[in-house]
Amino acid sequence: MSATMLDPDTLDPYRLPAGVEPTRYDVRLRPDLDDGSFVGTVRIDLDVASATRSLVLNAAELEIVSCSIDGTDATWELLAESERLVVTAAAEIAPGSSRLTIEFVGVLNDKLRGFYRSTYTDDDGTEHVIATTQMQATDCRRAFPCWDEPAFKAVFAITLDVADDLTAISNGPEVGRTNADGRSIIRFADTMKMSSYLVAFVVGRLETTEPVDVDGTPLRIAHVPGKGHLTELGLDVGAFCLRWFQEYYDIAYPSDKVDLVALPDFAAGAMENLGCITFRESLLLIDPATSTQFERQMVVDVVAHELAHMWFGDLVTMRWWNGIWLNEAFATFMEVAACEAYRPDWERWTSFGVERTLAFDTDSLDNTRSVEFDVRSPADADGMFDVLTYQKGGSLLRMLEQYLGAEEFRAGVSHYLRTHSYGNTETNDLWDAIEETSGEPVRRIMDSWIWQPGYPIVRASIVDHDGTASLELTQRRFRFDSRAAHAGPADEVWAVPVHVRNGGIVTTVLLDGAETVAPLPLVDPTGAVIVNAGGSGYFRVDYDDTLRSRLSAEVLAEMSTLERYNLVDDAWAATVAGDLSATELLPLLEAFGGERDHAVWQAVVIALRGLSRLLDDGPAFEAFRARVRALAAPALADLGEPIDGESDLTAKLRGLLVGAVGVLGGDVGTQARCRELFDAASRDPRSVDPELTAAATSVVAATGDQDTYARLRDGFLGGATPQDKLRQLYALAEFDDEALLLETCQFAMTGAVKTQNAPFLLRLAIANRRHGAAAWAFVRDHWAEANDRFPSNTIGRMVDTVRLLNTPELVDEVAGFFAVHPIEQAAKTLDQVLERQRVNTALRTRDGEEFAAALTAMYG
Ligand SMILES: [Zn+2]
Repeated sequence: MSATMLDPDTLDPYRLPAGVEPTRYDVRLRPDLDDGSFVGTVRIDLDVASATRSLVLNAAELEIVSCSIDGTDATWELLAESERLVVTAAAEIAPGSSRLTIEFVGVLNDKLRGFYRSTYTDDDGTEHVIATTQMQATDCRRAFPCWDEPAFKAVFAITLDVADDLTAISNGPEVGRTNADGRSIIRFADTMKMSSYLVAFVVGRLETTEPVDVDGTPLRIAHVPGKGHLTELGLDVGAFCLRWFQEYYDIAYPSDKVDLVALPDFAAGAMENLGCITFRESLLLIDPATSTQFERQMVVDVVAHELAHMWFGDLVTMRWWNGIWLNEAFATFMEVAACEAYRPDWERWTSFGVERTLAFDTDSLDNTRSVEFDVRSPADADGMFDVLTYQKGGSLLRMLEQYLGAEEFRAGVSHYLRTHSYGNTETNDLWDAIEETSGEPVRRIMDSWIWQPGYPIVRASIVDHDGTASLELTQRRFRFDSRAAHAGPADEVWAVPVHVRNGGIVTTVLLDGAETVAPLPLVDPTGAVIVNAGGSGYFRVDYDDTLRSRLSAEVLAEMSTLERYNLVDDAWAATVAGDLSATELLPLLEAFGGERDHAVWQAVVIALRGLSRLLDDGPAFEAFRARVRALAAPALADLGEPIDGESDLTAKLRGLLVGAVGVLGGDVGTQARCRELFDAASRDPRSVDPELTAAATSVVAATGDQDTYARLRDGFLGGATPQDKLRQLYALAEFDDEALLLETCQFAMTGAVKTQNAPFLLRLAIANRRHGAAAWAFVRDHWAEANDRFPSNTIGRMVDTVRLLNTPELVDEVAGFFAVHPIEQAAKTLDQVLERQRVNTALRTRDGEEFAAALTAMYG
């Protein structure tokens, strides 16, 4: 076979050429934390399929010092644009094994990707540097030259040469160390065969907890000095999940140890590097005694999510980035399942319904996307890290699991992971594995949801069939903009697993076409019919008048929390879509005054907040506030004061209602009470129930003056825990005063606010009910600075709340701005935000006046 000369210009710009595969990397790095640089050597063992002169791999922002192939010097060319390194041998490289050795130098960047700098200030005011990594998706090439695609799996052996007073952590456990001249050379165990995006190393002044022995696997938390007292929950849930997943997957943990590493600067939430999982501090370090249920649940969720990836993602990996959605959707599904097992009293599958609504919100737009789509460049997949991947994808898996049965689903997942261990897969491989074990048409069902944008609303009607009242189900796509011009193709149907409860019996049908083939017989033809029984289906329900009239208070009381949540959520969606008016919605919400489940109240409060944005200040708004008080205050009074031993969800509901009555209802008594609670919590955080502290912080901010502002800002700067700090920081966006809100925007641009948090503070400022437009103007006027300072994956999220700026003038203004300042890394997300802004504006234009008139008429 003849040698081939590779011409870089003719290569696929996004995929490395086939024919050469790395099998093992020996990486040695010597970071210098003081001058922010590193020098390194990588030795890569290769499997060469056919003779060649050139090797093409990835490298970016590295300076190459030397290259050799099998000990002989080679020449090289760095292609900055395509982030490639082409190494050309002096003579032909024969088929078989070969070894490529590269020496290089690089810079520890401040962009939170590749090998980067994170900093923290100790109690003495001294700044310390941590050198750490974030490789996903394609930034391993910034740390060392490599075949940086998920399908090029190999073994990684990492060696770090660091100052001997620093801690160093990598994927594998430490297996060797030599000390000389004030430095330590630390060798880490070989990893399993894995993708380059899972490599990690962290170096800095860090402390680690004592390892917890999880059936032979040591589990630790690493953190900056002085935070060891915040590790208890993380260790506990980490150990729980490690055991739980081994049982669920029926496969042993695929590595030797687990380190959970809390980092002061982190662009994402957390990252599933094999055995060396990195986190934002607020998602790992927590004081359970002073944090809310939601803050604790976030820690549990994220620890569970990342550990779930050790198998699904790390052991079995998508072949290319089009598969990232399944990777994330599955980990989302597992995080909820594990959290449900860890704390059944938190009813995690019910609260997941609220997250599904976030997916519905985007998926009801014309600018939604299919869950999976073709991905050519890795950047094409950047847009996959959104609600349609995590929340919709996770919901679809939950729907499938509920259709098949939990054990059938689990067995299929286990079969999939065993079949493809250490390998790479396509999405279909999972469906096929579950189909094999369950015998159900899994691929056909899932394809209808994965490749088709949007989702259906199922219409349930009573029809006469052979003389008996029977149930007919039909489906059509649900859209916020349901006007005729947007009607989709008639064949837009999904394979919808529908659970129906009637007369105490649940039956399951697969609604596979536009309508049921034949009407379904009913056990109790005159009784209530609950469609989407259990509440897990990824669709909305529209009952005909007969069926709706059967949903009496008695029936409601017997429904599950998630089923009632769905009723409220569907009603609010119908209002946004124009199928129900705001004036009709409010009495529907008021029927839930006797409700005592948190999730249902959350849906009610979300709808009330939405309604509040249809009104200008004035008599109508005051009348609306009175209605909110009349609805929520009795429920709050009924809950009474916190008592020892009450459930976390009861305490959480109290916090939600305090916020609703105090801010949305403008209740002065509640506001005064919140100032007392806030003062007490400031003196002694443990003296006040954390849910009340959090709610009071928000109420105090929303109704506070300059002095309160200064207190909250100081509270943020000096906060004792990551949660306490963030709560006070984000409360700065709630002040009902334009000057203070703009001060918050200015504050976000200073070094006092980490760039990982600042975009979210601005996002909240734009959501401010009365002064959001001023915050938006600030962001617009500081656009270049914001893009320069903040991680690129946060820019789209920062402006997500412009959807709430619901006047025609602001629609034009915002659209005009983004026409000349596109967000390339979040183009689809931005289209969605702008469409939702138009939808919200249409709602206000359509309903605002009538709603205001109805409110004042009643109280006039
Ligand atoms: Zn994930």
